[in-house]
Amino acid sequence: MIKNMKCNYCGQKAEWVENKEIYGRNYGSSYMIWLCRDCNAYIGCHKNSQVPKGKTLAKKDLREARMKAHAIIDPLWQSGKYKRRTVYLRLKEAFGEEVHVGATTTPE
Ligand SMILES: [Zn+2]
Repeated sequence: MIKNMKCNYCGQKAEWVENKEIYGRNYGSSYMIWLCRDCNAYIGCHKNSQVPKGKTLAKKDLREARMKAHAIIDPLWQSGKYKRRTVYLRLKEAFGEEVHVGATTTPE
């Protein structure tokens, strides 16, 4: 189990907190996040565990980029036109490496 996570921007230890620290109240059934207050960077966790949904904390610009990427990528497989696996496989072929967009902790 992961007990600490470093901020990938400043190198300080991130805090494991509820996302009401960001939103004012807890959002979602999984509301635990790793937060760096200095950088205002965070990432959500799986099912309120300490396991982050991605490899790095994200600042606003990265969170927005992730949301945009999801907005483009997700409908491809959500429509049933392509398998999710196929979409990511194509991305891998296009970029020459494995692509993970990462999760957003923004409320749905
Ligand atoms: Zn930081």
